[in-house]
Amino acid sequence: MKLNTNYDKLQNSYLFVEIANRVKKYTAENPAADIIRLGIGDVTRPLAPCVVEAGLKAMSEMGKAETFRGYSPDSQGYDFLRNAISAYYASFGVKVGAEEVHVSDGAKSDCGNIVDMFDADNTVLIPDPVYPVYFDSNIMSGRKVIFCDATEENDFAPLPDDNTDCDIIYLCSPNNPTGSAYTFAQLKKWVDFANARGAIIIYDAAYEAFVTDPDVPRSIFAVDGARTCAVELCSFSKTAGFTGTRCGYTVVPNELCGGRLAKMWARRQSTKFNGTSYIQQRMAEAAYSEEGIKQNLENIRAYQKNAKLISDTFAEMGIYHTGGKNSPYIWLKCNGDSWDFFDKLLTQANVVGTPGSGFGKNGEGFFRLTAFNTYEKTEEAMRRIKKVLS
Ligand code: PLP
Repeated sequence: MKLNTNYDKLQNSYLFVEIANRVKKYTAENPAADIIRLGIGDVTRPLAPCVVEAGLKAMSEMGKAETFRGYSPDSQGYDFLRNAISAYYASFGVKVGAEEVHVSDGAKSDCGNIVDMFDADNTVLIPDPVYPVYFDSNIMSGRKVIFCDATEENDFAPLPDDNTDCDIIYLCSPNNPTGSAYTFAQLKKWVDFANARGAIIIYDAAYEAFVTDPDVPRSIFAVDGARTCAVELCSFSKTAGFTGTRCGYTVVPNELCGGRLAKMWARRQSTKFNGTSYIQQRMAEAAYSEEGIKQNLENIRAYQKNAKLISDTFAEMGIYHTGGKNSPYIWLKCNGDSWDFFDKLLTQANVVGTPGSGFGKNGEGFFRLTAFNTYEKTEEAMRRIKKVLS
């Protein structure tokens, strides 16, 4: 037996462990410290009432012989949910057929699994800084990864370079960790670049619900030409607070790779995945109902209000940052070592954020704050940070 030695090439994923250790040590030494957490990208507001109601109803169906359900008939997802997702896209003017939607237990699983579709002999282009799953999942399967630099010079929204040779491109917009978001015109450049090379874009739209700017597409399929070069990963996690509930989906257009990719993905999923639970799918359906969208928007608006407050605070201090608009993340310049900045905020302001260096080499000198807390705590955190930095 030989182990997959590609795993030896992975860096230890110590970022959030190290953050937790530093916070634990500090609070042990300073038990009275009132710590405000603006670090981890997890939602804090409860599920929308109509989602809870749908979950309870589905659970009660499972408790009656006449309505009990076992394995779902199709690992691609129940029709009711795939139709709801198709209607959701239509609500912002994007045409996606229900048969093109593949329901899963979250975007992270799809992101990690989609690499199965591609030969090991492909070059993968990944922006730096990056959501680490794109990089790690390709290293695990032995692929060559190259980076495109997201920096202050391009406002952390890098564009394609015609001299770059690549087959698979990962894009995330609105972006985690930088909060930057591509405009229609910028995304069109990537779509044209991919189509010209026969490359594929794996587009992560997990934060699409945060888009407010009319110039910023909520889906890559809002861009002409994307259906021949892109798959889109999306999630109920940030749109509807499903981080603990688990439901996501991938859209594979019918025409991509002459229809082969959709067939391959369905084949892969039906072999290695037995579908997302009926209860979760009913909850997800409710999240994309008219009432659900309205109720979830209240949560999104609350996070957006926090994001604006954080962004306004740094603008007022004259500190360069991206995000805050179209995104729950604010990516700010901290000048110097991002772990030193972490320690400074932790010990002097009792605020926890995430050092940018944990997301790639271009993250050094930057720091991520998130809007996933209450307005009152965010306000207090900004008051303390202003005091420490001015
Ligand atoms: N994609 C991005 C860019 C994310 O930031 C996250 C979660 O933080 C995910 C995907 C994971 O989504 P899910 O909870 O659906 O697995």
